[in-house]
Amino acid sequence: MGEERIIEGKILKGIGGFYYILDDHGEIHECKAAGRFRKEKIKPLPGDTVVFDPESVDGYGFITHIDKRRNELKRPQVANVDQVIITMAVKNPKPDLVLIDKLLMMASIANIHPIVCINKADLASKVEMDDLKKQYDSYYDVYIVCCENESGFDELKATFKGKISCFAGQSAVGKSSILNTIFKDFDLEVGTLSKKTARGKHTTRHAELILIEDNAIVVDTPGFSMLESFDIEIPEIGVHFLDINKFRRGCKFSSCIHLNEPECAVKEAVEDGQIDRRRYERYLKIVKEFKEGRKKYDG
Ligand code: ZN
Repeated sequence: MGEERIIEGKILKGIGGFYYILDDHGEIHECKAAGRFRKEKIKPLPGDTVVFDPESVDGYGFITHIDKRRNELKRPQVANVDQVIITMAVKNPKPDLVLIDKLLMMASIANIHPIVCINKADLASKVEMDDLKKQYDSYYDVYIVCCENESGFDELKATFKGKISCFAGQSAVGKSSILNTIFKDFDLEVGTLSKKTARGKHTTRHAELILIEDNAIVVDTPGFSMLESFDIEIPEIGVHFLDINKFRRGCKFSSCIHLNEPECAVKEAVEDGQIDRRRYERYLKIVKEFKEGRKKYDG
């Protein structure tokens, strides 16, 4: 009997009760989870940081501890995502900014750092691009890229280092092309990331984390097809809009939803241009959707 070895690592994927764990040296270990996790109804997830004994039984190891998760997504089922690249195209398809704002809100709720990425920069004039950018860049990290002439990627690439990243956004905005442009040797099939499941249909596909380079790890399916897993009250929506959140403490009522209430600091900030009016209008649209009970985004 060898001495028990304990290693820390990150689960990249789980298939049929086996988990594939990346250690600090870049090696992959095949492990099972200790029986007590099942009793405690804890399912190891891709993204989990775990402690494991790499060679306890029959050639495979055993996960003995799962670190507390900083976040957990339901679809795809992954844990500990560090950043989400919320991607849109400046044109073709036309950006769905209500969707973008919902994704930004979801990232905030899930405690994931959002990055706004605007692709297809070659299709728009500078004026159009600046107009789109300025709705976000006072409060969010915005990167403008163009897969066509490979511009703008160095800065975006730097954000992936040492992190688990996930993409989100409409289909056909170029999510997988962006990834393939940043990481040249990366052979993710174009289209995998933008594959769309039928509306409302449950996908049984398991998420997998892909180690690319520089400790950059990417989730192989787009994140946030779900708002239904977030239980949020209407006055909390503004908390997750960084621009609205900055001013809302100045509102007279703590339950202010910045609609018709008197002495609303958010509405004042919209009036004097500190909050982009279009963002505010989309916020109201999202509040209205929530009020009407359509809490679910299933796009
Ligand atoms: Zn208010």
